[in-house]
Amino acid sequence: MAATPLELRPLGNTGLKLSCVGFGASPLGNVFGLVSESDAIASVRKAFSLGINFFDTSPYYGGTLSEKMLGKALKALGAPRNEYIVSTKCGRYAEGFDFSAERVTRSIDESLERLQLDYVDILQCHDIEFGSLDQIVTETIPALLKLKEAGKVKFIGITGLPLGIFSYILDRVPPGTVDVILSYCHYGINDSTLEDLLPYLKSKGVGIISASPLAMGLLTESGPPEWHPASPELKAACQDAAAFCKEKGKNISKLALQYSLLNKDISTILVGMNSVKQVDENVATAVELATFGKDEKALSEIEEILKPVKNQTWPSGIQQS
Ligand code: NAD
Repeated sequence: MAATPLELRPLGNTGLKLSCVGFGASPLGNVFGLVSESDAIASVRKAFSLGINFFDTSPYYGGTLSEKMLGKALKALGAPRNEYIVSTKCGRYAEGFDFSAERVTRSIDESLERLQLDYVDILQCHDIEFGSLDQIVTETIPALLKLKEAGKVKFIGITGLPLGIFSYILDRVPPGTVDVILSYCHYGINDSTLEDLLPYLKSKGVGIISASPLAMGLLTESGPPEWHPASPELKAACQDAAAFCKEKGKNISKLALQYSLLNKDISTILVGMNSVKQVDENVATAVELATFGKDEKALSEIEEILKPVKNQTWPSGIQQS
């Protein structure tokens, strides 16, 4: 059970309560550099012991490696299944995209085997802007509803970068069909455009997960990975902000996470973590924020540095709806 009072927040109409910091398991697929099995297991154990109850993965991360590692780590916890919430995804694979009913139906069985679970709490269509949004409405979501009926999945979600995809889908399915959306890189100190969509999402009763508060490594002292899609200008501005913080004896990642955690309409902020140290730091950030409030001065100084690139994003997918 949790040792620290990490805040739990309701996830839309699901009845689930997610820790405000969620464990993003893409790093366990070596997406941000090599992570040993023992570090992966120790990170998940530490996260759970500190009150993180939400773990997110995908068959795409590390070509199924993340799911396998997370499965091993969750098993090693030996905790009752109802004490942790697991989400995985379907439709995006190392081989490419396939949102067909046949593929996503097969996908969940493969994921459950790798995760060593009987069901996942949330199954999300992964990065739908790379597929046909109409196929998601007419074929993929109906297939996921069958998986829900079969008990393999408790709730259904959609993920992707361009914010327009969410209303495109939600406006075309009956209320209550899509339980959750996962947005990434749009609720952080350099890009907070998700904010405008929050009233609409709330009106639909949809649970809101926001991922990548560190902008996939842009807001870290060590900087982003090689594959990061940001423009050189955005990378440089984030690097300047990180250097500024360091000079002031502050940590850019801590401040960035503070910023994202402040909006309580968002159920959980998913951070990718690959070490016990990062888990400790991120949980401490949430607990300190709840106890002492935000570092207002430092946050506004960083916002000022990032102003020229505020809300700058990058193209993703085959359509920008
Ligand atoms: P992120 O912004 O959480 O950054 C992760 C990077 O920051 C990693 O290199 C990690 O090691 C590092 N990090 C974490 N804590 C740190 C700390 N305290 N100090 C310094 N560095 C730290 O980006 P992310 O991992 O891409 O996003 C989080 C999770 O959200 C993913 O793991 C994944 O589960 C999910 N996600 C989903 C989608 C999607 O569905 N399309 C997209 C992006 C992310």
